[in-house]
Amino acid sequence: MPPLIEIRNLRHVYNAGTPAAVVAVDGISLTVERGEFLAVVGGNGSGKSTLAKHLNALLLPTEGEVHVDGLDTRDRASVWDIRQRVGMVFQNPDNQLVATVVEEDIAFGPENLGVPRGEIVARVQEALAAVDMLEYRRHAPHLLSGGQKQRVAIAGILAMRPQCLVLDEATTMLDPLGRREVLETVRRLNAGGVTVIHITHTMDEAVLAHRIIALQAGRIGLEGPPAQVFDRAGDLEAMGLTLPLIPALARTLRADGLPLREGILFAEQFVDAVAALAADTAWKSRNGVH
Ligand code: ADP
Ligand code: MG
Repeated sequence: MPPLIEIRNLRHVYNAGTPAAVVAVDGISLTVERGEFLAVVGGNGSGKSTLAKHLNALLLPTEGEVHVDGLDTRDRASVWDIRQRVGMVFQNPDNQLVATVVEEDIAFGPENLGVPRGEIVARVQEALAAVDMLEYRRHAPHLLSGGQKQRVAIAGILAMRPQCLVLDEATTMLDPLGRREVLETVRRLNAGGVTVIHITHTMDEAVLAHRIIALQAGRIGLEGPPAQVFDRAGDLEAMGLTLPLIPALARTLRADGLPLREGILFAEQFVDAVAALAADTAWKSRNGVH
């Protein structure tokens, strides 16, 4: 089986060949495996959204190639197969819901795919249950909270049975509760086998991924599992990115001489590491702590 997404030497130039040309993606090669949870981070204008739009053929390469489940995005006959496999959720929830009732919105995608009526009903039910919004199926989308709207937008994509969900700053406009709801939903879907590509400028959200890629000026500046990427605080800072709260705290304390282990990402790990030190009487007496 081919990898879910394979990008080879992708270059994207807007307004190519004109004085207004902008090189937005400048030679990216990337493979995304089935079932992966990939976070894409990077400052404003680093090329995140341009990269995302190549994943379901909303944009086509100026140079290089993008393959989705073995299908070349440049092949016009494959566009609908590609869009069925890779669903996109965007920043503004209000721009993504079109119907006046939640369940009609979810049915829209499968209807366009020509799914038979009876199966659509089952898919709508299943998709709303997957984002924990079943009880809102007859509600008006515009009356929902931001987090609920994004979950409905995700359900609309799930109803097309995609292999991959791409979220382009989909939590950026949400309040903390809405963010948590969407992130929990996405994690659960990923645990159930859906590949997730989460584009975010919030480093705390990138911690949840299996792998992070950091973009800078249209190129991959840093890549690796979170623990490894967050050990390169200096490189991240040079890219205008800050460490998430817990790794930053561990780093500060380490710099103050507390011998905390590397690779601490989550509050629980931090508390365990501090507790282990507190229990280490040898260390305490050496440092004059009583
Ligand atoms: P990000 O999502 O990381 O903020 P984008 O992919 O949106 O980055 O943009 C990358 C670069 O491409 C930026 O310099 C941006 O100004 C430029 N850009 C984005 N969209 C367009 C467009 N439609 N036309 C021209 N330039 C664009
Ligand atoms: Mg963007």
